[in-house]
Amino acid sequence: MREPWVVDGHCDSLYEFLAQKRSLTQAHEGGHWDLERARHGGVALQFMAAFIESEYKPHRAMQRGLELLEAAQRFVQINKDRVFLIKEQKDLAQIPHAHKIALLLAVEGGEIIGESLFMLPIIYALGVRSLTLTWNQRNALADGVGEHLTGSKLTRFGQAVIKEMNALGMLIDVSHLNEAGFWHVLELSSQPIVASHSCARKLCPHVRNLSDEQLRALGRAGGVVGVYFYPRFLVDNGPATRQDVVKHIIHMAEVAGVEAVGLGSDFDGIDNTPAGLEDCSRYPLLAQDLSHAGFTDEEIGKIFGKNFIRVLSTVLK
Ligand SMILES: [Zn+2]
Repeated sequence: MREPWVVDGHCDSLYEFLAQKRSLTQAHEGGHWDLERARHGGVALQFMAAFIESEYKPHRAMQRGLELLEAAQRFVQINKDRVFLIKEQKDLAQIPHAHKIALLLAVEGGEIIGESLFMLPIIYALGVRSLTLTWNQRNALADGVGEHLTGSKLTRFGQAVIKEMNALGMLIDVSHLNEAGFWHVLELSSQPIVASHSCARKLCPHVRNLSDEQLRALGRAGGVVGVYFYPRFLVDNGPATRQDVVKHIIHMAEVAGVEAVGLGSDFDGIDNTPAGLEDCSRYPLLAQDLSHAGFTDEEIGKIFGKNFIRVLSTVLK
């Protein structure tokens, strides 16, 4: 089989760049993701998330988010011969690029806009094209999974955010959102949505994972779920292997359709990885596993990247 190119719906590497711990260009610096290994692994598009850590919430969340976005712009500028930013629908035609890795700026946590709708066009102007509405906590938009007992739908502000994101052409990411919020977003959004890094609850009953009903509905709405590589969400307990990622992919493809499945590693955001998927250079091994599991090359191509591209080509302006 030909090695498929990869779209990864989530990584948290930016904060290490911001902290000057790594340049994110060379493998020997450690961590899970850098340009050298991403290239080796066939990464064509990487969602780069500005993850706003809990200690900054709520009052310094906006400032922290902007600080991470400034770091992202600096990373792109320094490495402009090796990366380019996806901002418009037409940029997608360059994927996979022969020499460069495409990056899509994302923010993980609606706290970056506080309670101000005007912040959405501002972060859009800064290049952000995807927003994870919540992390695990409650914010002004909705409740995260850490608040799942409330059973809350989106706030009025959250509903306005969905409308504005649809109008701007920003991708709505429901990973970390509580279940009532998930259904509310599906009901409101005029565009397909994604769960950038989530697993199947049927195989691992974690509150962060999606039920079969959610997976089915996401697929029916033309959305994509990026299978998450965090062992805690792949298996009930103990260490996980690449084969566990394959199991989640098989299950999601059965329940939601091959068109609804993608990859969402969260490299550099997770403290351990499945055996055999230690960093972003290992994707070709996962492709081989899927081939052995009976997926065709065409299906693997969709799961590895084309499904995410399909959603982006619908959502972006
Ligand atoms: Zn996350």
